[in-house]
Amino acid sequence: MSLISFINPLSIEGQNLVKNSADLNSVFDHNDDLINVIMHSSRQTMSNPDIIPETIGDLAINRIKWFIERKNNKKFNPNDYDYLFNRDIYEYDVIAFHLLSQAIASKFRPNSREVRLFVESQGFLIEERLTKLLTNEHEEIVEDILSQLLTQNDLEWSFLKDLIASKKISLCDLVLDHGEIILDREEFIYSFEDKFLDRSPDRIYDILIGNSIKELILTKMIMQSTEDYIKRINSMLATVEVHPMIEQLADLLAESIDVTMNKYSSYYGNSGPGSMKIGKLIREAFPPCIANTVDGVSSGGRNDAIVLLLTSFVSYARLYPGIFGSEGGVKVSDIDSNLSITNNEILPLIYEAAENCTPPLFEDQPQEKINITAKLGFGMHDVPDLENEGETTWYTPMSCEKIQMHLPQLCKKNKDCQKINNPLSYYSRKKWILNKEGKLNSDSKSNES
Ligand code: SF4
Repeated sequence: MSLISFINPLSIEGQNLVKNSADLNSVFDHNDDLINVIMHSSRQTMSNPDIIPETIGDLAINRIKWFIERKNNKKFNPNDYDYLFNRDIYEYDVIAFHLLSQAIASKFRPNSREVRLFVESQGFLIEERLTKLLTNEHEEIVEDILSQLLTQNDLEWSFLKDLIASKKISLCDLVLDHGEIILDREEFIYSFEDKFLDRSPDRIYDILIGNSIKELILTKMIMQSTEDYIKRINSMLATVEVHPMIEQLADLLAESIDVTMNKYSSYYGNSGPGSMKIGKLIREAFPPCIANTVDGVSSGGRNDAIVLLLTSFVSYARLYPGIFGSEGGVKVSDIDSNLSITNNEILPLIYEAAENCTPPLFEDQPQEKINITAKLGFGMHDVPDLENEGETTWYTPMSCEKIQMHLPQLCKKNKDCQKINNPLSYYSRKKWILNKEGKLNSDSKSNES
């Protein structure tokens, strides 16, 4: 039973454990039993006291810290967090999960960076915990948890419609027979036996379904339940007062996430040409196509130059110049959590360029402000609002090739354009050169995030 809640803290077992053992007043009490479990984790590094949680509150914070480090730290040492994979920690881990859910729901918006980090970290934790189980218990636990999660005998694909709609699962991942999802080996063989004449259906089952699809469904369903759980807590908080310990945990968590994320948001290429640090916009480093756009464009290509080219360039140059070297999936608020940089630096520059156009862009086409908001990822609205983030995608900068094709009048190559295939690479390289030549003042060098 302990394994079920270790993998799924939202299971009935996990919820009962929280009901019977959680004590909000002791969230930040030194916990000898927890430390004892950590000390007995076979590969645990004990030499660095900063990574050892001494309280359940610390454990909750470290669950997220582990995920950020695991994804970003090129020198990540798995032994620093070995305790997260020691099943004896399950009791404390389940409580930490539920405390985190409350803290995150009380402080952050449902589609915030923090909620996404929590949900993704839970998915990642499940995947890694499953891989560390012995083969026989692995299969057994996946079956047990799935039988709790899948409440229908005949599993129609529509049962997973929320996962499909949120792109957690693609219909292409699933094997369907008349709209029914096939997971069971016997059922697969019964349904498709006559379709595979030259191959064993058993073997095909292992390739197409096996444990991997079951694990995928299990993991994504728990991630979706975690998201739904946070939304439920969030709506309950309209009528219930937040416990002071949860408030304290939420504040410490926010601080820890900011510190850990900032460590990596300025990580990209700190030396050499193409340095991709976040920082104030340096107009002197803009490539000719961007400088020409900022100076104003006359009607041919004016709208595309401001809405497509400049909006994406300025926002990524200021907030996330390393976008092309990353896995993507980033949102503006991941870096600019209260939109102060967006509202005070990015939009004013775009609006200034719009005003410089002939005729000024918003004079005859005020609706283009909505398109600018949409290209920043905040849906079809007049101005960016955190509530709307994610309704559209943050549009990535155009390549030189596209600019030369669609807005050729703006591309006035200079010597620094050689071997450049994107205005963003030009900008990062030029910034590095200006810095090396001592032409950047200290304000320009600051790495605000
Ligand atoms: S080569 Fe690329 S970066 Fe240079 S002006 Fe043309 S489009 Fe801009």
